[in-house]
Amino acid sequence: KEEVNIISGALDLRKKKVSDVMTKLKDCFMLPINSILDFETMSEIVKSGYSRIPVYEGTRGNIVTVLFIKDLAFVDPDDNTPLRTLCQYYQNPCNFVFEDITLDVMLKQFKEGHKGHMAFVQRIEEGDGDPVYETVGLVTLEDVIEEMIQAEIVDE
Ligand code: ADP
Repeated sequence: KEEVNIISGALDLRKKKVSDVMTKLKDCFMLPINSILDFETMSEIVKSGYSRIPVYEGTRGNIVTVLFIKDLAFVDPDDNTPLRTLCQYYQNPCNFVFEDITLDVMLKQFKEGHKGHMAFVQRIEEGDGDPVYETVGLVTLEDVIEEMIQAEIVDE
């Protein structure tokens, strides 16, 4: 029964788009790049429970890099390190995908690994002028695997 579910889930990956499974931008835990890594901010990061935190400049739609929790290993909250300094040091790249790519394509990209296991989902806004890209959410390998096994993965 469970195997049948997984097989049908795997076949359905081709029918679903990243926008169907992403975490919407408004629900993402993110940090502005001008944050200071003081005790309060670092506690909030730890409390959020996420291992990757998108970092934005200005507006939430303008994601410039990703902070990994492991990047905080050598940060002393008493130093009040600017997040920008840490981001400039690690320069973790972010991976953008269009909202209409299907989950089998997304899975293949995640499997290749070189772009990491998180991607930011973009929508093209067609207006009068040039098309503008709007970031609408994020998707991780876990979101795709949950779709494949047709079940929630309960976080550690
Ligand atoms: P983590 O390693 O942080 O637990 P996962 O890749 O296991 O993250 O993803 C678990 C769920 O949390 C997924 O649904 C994913 O979309 C969501 N998620 C991951 N990072 C964030 C974040 N910074 N803010 C909000 N949701 C997130």
